[in-house]
Amino acid sequence: LSPVPSDIEISRGQTPKAVDVLAKEIGLLADEIEIYGKSKAKVQLSLLERLKDQTDGKYVLVAGITPTPLGEGKSTVTIGLVQALTAHLNVNSFACLRQPSQGPTFGVKGGAAGGGYAQVIPMEEFNLHLTGDIHAITAANNLLAAAIDTRILHESTQTDKALYNRLVPLVNGVREFSEIQLSRLKKLGIHKTDPSTLTEEEVRKFARLNIDPSTITWQRVLDTNDRFLRKITIGQGSTEKGYSRQAQFDIAVASEIMAVLALTDSLTDMKERLGRMVVASDKDGQPVTAEDLGVTGALTVLMKDAIKPNLMQTLEGTPVFVHAGPFANIAHGNSSVLADKIALKLVGEEGFVVTEAGFGADIGMEKFFNIKCRASGLVPNVVVLVATVRALKMHGGGPSVTAGVPLKKEYTEENIQLVADGCCNLQKQIQIAQLFGVPVVVALNVFKTDTRAEIDLVCELAKRAGAFDAVPCYHWSAGGKGSVDLARAVREAANKRSRFQFLYDVQLPIVEKIRVIAQTVYGAKDIELSPEAQSKIDRYTQQGFGNLPICMAKTHLSLSHEPDKKGVPRDFTLPISDVRASIGAGFIYPLVGTMSTMPGLPTRPCFYDIDLDTETEQVKGLF
Ligand code: ADP
Repeated sequence: LSPVPSDIEISRGQTPKAVDVLAKEIGLLADEIEIYGKSKAKVQLSLLERLKDQTDGKYVLVAGITPTPLGEGKSTVTIGLVQALTAHLNVNSFACLRQPSQGPTFGVKGGAAGGGYAQVIPMEEFNLHLTGDIHAITAANNLLAAAIDTRILHESTQTDKALYNRLVPLVNGVREFSEIQLSRLKKLGIHKTDPSTLTEEEVRKFARLNIDPSTITWQRVLDTNDRFLRKITIGQGSTEKGYSRQAQFDIAVASEIMAVLALTDSLTDMKERLGRMVVASDKDGQPVTAEDLGVTGALTVLMKDAIKPNLMQTLEGTPVFVHAGPFANIAHGNSSVLADKIALKLVGEEGFVVTEAGFGADIGMEKFFNIKCRASGLVPNVVVLVATVRALKMHGGGPSVTAGVPLKKEYTEENIQLVADGCCNLQKQIQIAQLFGVPVVVALNVFKTDTRAEIDLVCELAKRAGAFDAVPCYHWSAGGKGSVDLARAVREAANKRSRFQFLYDVQLPIVEKIRVIAQTVYGAKDIELSPEAQSKIDRYTQQGFGNLPICMAKTHLSLSHEPDKKGVPRDFTLPISDVRASIGAGFIYPLVGTMSTMPGLPTRPCFYDIDLDTETEQVKGLF
């Protein structure tokens, strides 16, 4: 329709096929799905075993140039591309997307189901709750947080013997270690299985974790943009008197448990990763893990359904997995390895799996390659780099773009000079993708105000910068048929041999790995470590965690650490203010400049427009 109706009107205008019908169409057996409502289902991991001899399809990553705060349409392009492949070119394809956080949905950016005629439907179910995976992560994360502080309290108020007796209670007059306790004993070098044989010293060692409260890195989380929780004091009640400390909440999708969910490849692996998560150091400087706190099993139980990918569909009835949802600025920004692996089997050798990395290629794509592909062993065939005329104009010196504020005339009228000047950002992001040896197809997501001359210029400059191809896409206004040229270009690029390589060797020292990313990807002169960052790096290296990949937490609004530096910033030194370690997820996590891990709400948040029609039970105002 013209004009294009609102996202939610389009979503509601299409009746999704029943999810069991969709599941059957894509080759799933009846007992391989668990249906949630009418249009969502979880799929069983056993599928991987059944399809283990099937050759994988082609693996396509959708990344973007440095975006405006409005987003440049990566999700929309992802969905438009699979709609074009499956519904118009008759090629099996699957989109694998992240589950959106409630933070942006009610905050600045709105939902993440795509938009226009390239959406996942029903979009309100996609954007709100889905099948509860983020709630499960929040529950697991906060159980662990509670376990840490409570353990410190109990260790401070009880004798060694009393603690031990409570940790290993008498059952029918006999004390027995649980499995988790036996593994803790092993870690302590105590090779005994009979509790009655422990010496006093061994009882003390077993019962006391001796957590140093000043080293606790595990934070509580909530899936709401609540800036007032960025720094809090916990333990103010009279029953916890003397045990208060400063702490913070992070947004739920920044939880390490989210990263574990996104990177794991089986239940066993997830359990091991959850157990390995380091939450603090003890008073001797040794890492304290979730396993030491005895909580691994409970966390795994809370996460046992979340590990199964969620099946939904596009507006044109093609399959989509929605699974895991880390942000790309403060986390690793990619959907789950498991969804990609299952989808690659389901599409078959000639098919395509299209997945999306958050924000610009400098962050989401860099982490896709260096963290996600390293964990999964999967080799990508093509990068689709999404650009818009509006973002290029911003990089060329156009006025700032703010959510909720109408765009200035530079963006609504033709301005060839701004586009030409801004293409430096597109060229740089193409070069970044080429560092990894994967062919790049530029997808210019066309807005109705873009002119022919502007569109032609971007495609021309992209090809000159080394893109395999560059094509305008009209999926937002025309659905899959508006992205057929993109689908053809991607299919052709996938026939080229991918010479995929990682950017750095994980065996390099942590500082060197950070420097390689800062210099070769962001274009920094050098890095500068705060004393705190340096001491954390020393601690993690000494604890044996020096050989993990790096997950930079950096603004998505610039290639540098300063959001207002557009285009291709030069001559800057990248400040590393702090470093955290996500040992279960398997990466070291440097914070660049003043990155906050809990977003705030703007003056006019999206929630102003969201409402429920209580007669029809229809959600209004989501986009
Ligand atoms: P990203 O994934 O890059 O953050 P999205 O695909 O979520 O971006 O798109 C951001 C917003 O812009 C969505 O509300 C979407 O509907 C809108 N949008 C995307 N492409 C277009 C377009 N070509 N014309 C108009 N609006 C668009």
